[in-house]
Amino acid sequence: MTHTPEHPTSDATTPSAHDWSATGLATRAIHAGQAPDAATGAVVTPIYQVSTYKQDGVGGLRGGYEYSRSGNPTRDALQEALASVESGERAFALASGLAAEDVLLRAILRPGGHIVMPDDAYGGTYRLVHRVLGAWGVEHTPVNTSDPAAVAAAIQPGRTAAVWVETPSNPLLGVSDIAVLADVAHAAGALLVVDNTFATPALQQPLTLGADAVVHSTTKYIGGHSDVVGGAVVTAPGAVLPSGATGPTGSQALADAVGFYQNAAGAVAGPFDAWLTLRGLKTLSLRMERHSSNAAAVAQFLESHPKVASVLYPGLASHPQHDLAARQMSAFGGMVSFRTGSLDSALAVVDRTKIFLLAESLGGVESLIEHPGKMTHASVAGSALEVPEDLVRVSVGIEDLDDLVADLAQALA
Ligand SMILES: *Cc1c(COP(=O)(O)O)cnc(C)c1O
Repeated sequence: MTHTPEHPTSDATTPSAHDWSATGLATRAIHAGQAPDAATGAVVTPIYQVSTYKQDGVGGLRGGYEYSRSGNPTRDALQEALASVESGERAFALASGLAAEDVLLRAILRPGGHIVMPDDAYGGTYRLVHRVLGAWGVEHTPVNTSDPAAVAAAIQPGRTAAVWVETPSNPLLGVSDIAVLADVAHAAGALLVVDNTFATPALQQPLTLGADAVVHSTTKYIGGHSDVVGGAVVTAPGAVLPSGATGPTGSQALADAVGFYQNAAGAVAGPFDAWLTLRGLKTLSLRMERHSSNAAAVAQFLESHPKVASVLYPGLASHPQHDLAARQMSAFGGMVSFRTGSLDSALAVVDRTKIFLLAESLGGVESLIEHPGKMTHASVAGSALEVPEDLVRVSVGIEDLDDLVADLAQALA
């Protein structure tokens, strides 16, 4: 990982730093940025619950640390680990997924600018672009990003700063071709941003496929235990601002601009939140295997059930982009959506499960169920992103599969 004085990593304080770049993802998730504590040998990165650092004479910073909005060793450990698992250059940990998206959007867009959005996306992303950035003169065009020709047609060359993609998407589980969309965006001088929250770096590597930046709600699979809200931006090696623009620090590097806004706007991840997220990251690989195998079996069960009209899961042969998903992902993840045929039957199912808890969010060890139209996606009602009223979304956890299937069976009976 590259270092700058403003963003020291744990390497700065740890003599035994090791180059993890040749190791596998599960190894990097546990070790990258997480060398034993230099002072004590503690094998887990300590929670540096501190706001400021004693200077050895004016400007005599130890390891580059000055003030915890600008740099904190626990947050730095998380950032280095996230950059490593996403095959990125630098990572930035923020207070939530939306804070991460906000920082990235500020870095790449200017008033009067334009962004191409998915017509199936996390509702909060749409609200941020439409209601917050819209008031600053940023325009957006929602398109079906599974159709590269539609994306190309929506781009306004010279004006469009970015194409934003969620794959698999939330809540319809559509899959978009990252490598093709990177070419489409780059041909018009725009960046490709991938929200990798659903797949995670364990199943999909967007930066390796050509994306310029990845965003995460680390609240979901990376944290993995429904106990912390957080977000991250990871930039690709060598990524620059769109159309050769110069950022606020005088540099064209995307990472420098994102780092500036992280510190200057200030919605950083706190030390305890960073520590919880790092703890979750260590088991990401293992959890994603179980989430994926449980979800595949749940999707098959639902597809064969007479009361289910259709099942949306990229791992099913019936999914329209199944072949693309099989090329682009190493497994299909833990999210499954299905349609029951009516609003009433959808509401009845989400009301009757006992193990699947009725709750928003996703990606934790416990299974959750929800009605997107009335819950997570209520804010997009009436827009191009409106979801079908008979849609049910489940986040399949890592419990015993038989118990999960039995719970859905009794809820559908
Ligand atoms: C939850 C979520 C977000 C927003 O993240 P927060 O941590 O809730 O701010 C963004 N994208 C996707 C795909 C999400 O599921």
